[in-house]
Amino acid sequence: MSHILIAEDEFRIASFLQKGLQANGFATTVADDGIQAAYLAHTGSFDLLILDLGLPGKHGIRVIEELRGQGVPLPIIVLTVIQDVQDKVKALEAGANDYVTKPFSLDELIARIRVQLRYQRSPQPVESMVLNVGELQIDLRQRTVCWKGKMVELSTREFTLLELLARHPGRTWTREDLLDNIWGYDYAPSSNIVDVYVGYLRKKLGQGVIKTVRGVGYSLEI
Ligand code: CA
Repeated sequence: MSHILIAEDEFRIASFLQKGLQANGFATTVADDGIQAAYLAHTGSFDLLILDLGLPGKHGIRVIEELRGQGVPLPIIVLTVIQDVQDKVKALEAGANDYVTKPFSLDELIARIRVQLRYQRSPQPVESMVLNVGELQIDLRQRTVCWKGKMVELSTREFTLLELLARHPGRTWTREDLLDNIWGYDYAPSSNIVDVYVGYLRKKLGQGVIKTVRGVGYSLEI
């Protein structure tokens, strides 16, 4: 049975999560502050961490930085409030695997948990700083990209976009999601900047890598 650590200081949400996850066959433990969450996450007793960012004691981003800084590979799904776009980016950059925006549905969260647990069981070493998706290798430390055995030069924004897509292969992102995650509030939802950058990446990696999901957005298909 997978054991999920829930770091959430709001009792109502923590108990909703606990009940919902238990009903779906997970074992759960709740930590209601950041210090306890970081401590428990180190113990190796858990398969995944659900992490609220606004925690007393230690902010969620600090918890992620600390765990990743010490090489703890535990998958982390962050809970964020909708306004905190920059927090989402910071959390992903610090090494969170995914995020869910509050208010969230239990179904969505459980689907995302299952995805992360599946990755964890795959042979790819989780502690690796290299994202491998098919013939694509993204070195997160060096910030270099290798595609079909060749190095590809990317700009900072191109790299960030590709990294985000590659962290969740097969997931469909709306333009708005991508805009929020990578460009934040600086751009109007009507902006075509996402399409422009997808175009740049396709020019460098070939047309087939980023699929257009008609009427929805984009996904990485390798
Ligand atoms: Ca909170």
